[in-house]
Amino acid sequence: MPGDDPREALFLCALQNAVKHGGVPQTGAVIGMVMGAHPHLRSRAKEVALLAKEAVAQVAALSPDERVATLQARAPEMYGAIFATHEHRKVLPELEGAAGGVVMRFAPNPSGPLHIGHARAAVLNDAYVKQYGGTYILRIEDTDPKRVDPDAYETVREDIRWLGLGITETVTQSERLPLYYDLCRQLIQRGGAYVCTCDTERFKELKMAKTACPCRDQPVEKNLDLWAKMLDHRFAEGEATVRIRTDLNHPDPAMRDFPAFRILDSPPHPKVKAHVYPLMNFSVVADDHLLGVTHVIRGKDHIANTRRQRFIYDHFGWKVPVYRHYGRMGIEGVVLSTSQMRNGIREGTYTGWDDIRLGTLRALARRGIRPEAVKNAVLAIGIGETDISFSWDNLYSENRKLVDPVANRYFFVPDPIELHISGAQSRTAHALLHPADEKRGVRTLPFTGSVVLPAAELADRSRSLIRLKDLFNVSVEHDHAHPHLTYTGDSLADARAAKAPIVQWLPADCQTPCTLRTPDGDIRGVCEPVVKTELGKVVQFERVGFAKIDAISDDGVMAYFTHK
Ligand code: GLU
Repeated sequence: MPGDDPREALFLCALQNAVKHGGVPQTGAVIGMVMGAHPHLRSRAKEVALLAKEAVAQVAALSPDERVATLQARAPEMYGAIFATHEHRKVLPELEGAAGGVVMRFAPNPSGPLHIGHARAAVLNDAYVKQYGGTYILRIEDTDPKRVDPDAYETVREDIRWLGLGITETVTQSERLPLYYDLCRQLIQRGGAYVCTCDTERFKELKMAKTACPCRDQPVEKNLDLWAKMLDHRFAEGEATVRIRTDLNHPDPAMRDFPAFRILDSPPHPKVKAHVYPLMNFSVVADDHLLGVTHVIRGKDHIANTRRQRFIYDHFGWKVPVYRHYGRMGIEGVVLSTSQMRNGIREGTYTGWDDIRLGTLRALARRGIRPEAVKNAVLAIGIGETDISFSWDNLYSENRKLVDPVANRYFFVPDPIELHISGAQSRTAHALLHPADEKRGVRTLPFTGSVVLPAAELADRSRSLIRLKDLFNVSVEHDHAHPHLTYTGDSLADARAAKAPIVQWLPADCQTPCTLRTPDGDIRGVCEPVVKTELGKVVQFERVGFAKIDAISDDGVMAYFTHK
């Protein structure tokens, strides 16, 4: 620290924080960081607190672009550190027995597109396969025809490609029914399963009373015969079930002789003609074993399944994989339920699976969230058992690190109002496409006398000076029907000294209509015509935030808000 003045350290720390997270930091956070790096300041806590407040206010007065430019000029290493990929990356805990390589799997049900919750399982398993080397199996779990959407086979694959998972092999469970049937026969022969023909309600009563149903003790031969009849369509739906023999005294009734196969005739399966289907716990164990899965990372909501599945492993005498169950993750602000999404799309409430109010990966992609950001955000959450809520801020900050260095900057004027500026000569303004990279070039904005400004910027009647970014300063008089603007000079220093807001604008005669779609609704405005060359890319609308250019039409530009 030069001399013993903590001002510079506080200012740079606040600045770096603001550039990294896209908002002005809390004073407390800045104090904490600076004190951490300079412990001798702790004895001057009061003074440092006051100076930190000042530093945060100075940062707040700068526009996002000015923050970047200032940080680059005054502390390039602190700017660079924001983008360093190794920074704060949490390393996943070691898995036991993984040193020689692993076989892992991602096992989604094809009931709809993948959402953020799926991404956690998908990315964590992927990361471990990359860490230890081995096989990463995509297993499509489609043995419940009630939960299969025929389109989802392809949607899920597309989502996986987008995420960039290192899948090495794909299996689809509906193509493996004969394998499960064969294993079921073997399990019956071993006495580990029986065919139960009791009425469902009756079985439930007996189970709650820890009492065996009459089918439980029938001889193996009878069970094999009933099993053959099940496969031979001699029972109708609901008339026969294969049950795993567990422990009728188990304290959890859900563990007692749970079902492994059932009969279903409707809805028909879109891929196979079948009458008998394995339930998840059976097909998962069969495949984890047959495919040689060594490690399973899944959510805590599967803990009861893991317990059930252990009974099946024990009957067969198979080796159990290593399990890790991560905590529940609440995801607020978006719709995640497949049926709610599907109904909403059908009723026209949502435009499709990529409607930005939904929590699907395709909705994130449409908004301009990069798959790497999803991966990094999910890896940072890790496999901890504590229940947490998903941090959108963290996802946005991961994404900002990726898009900020590449996104071109443009002006978008929401809710524009057109105003003439008195006393100003025509001229052409030049604004950098990227504040940190002059080589990328400039946009040219021809000023000929009138501009459009965001109406909200003029609503505050106490404002007497505004700087039009990259153009000049104007005084504002409010005692007219419309505010009256007069040119007062070019100096950025004057504008800063007067704490004038620096506002985006557009020439009244050079602009394109632009709609900015946000989860809370559409914001109508205008943008620079050159934005039309950015179709499919993420840009930054200065002072508004990042946005993905979604469509260009005769009506103008449709942009999707990414984040601040
Ligand atoms: N297909 C199931 C699911 O997506 C099973 C996954 C697992 O066994 O980990 O919840």
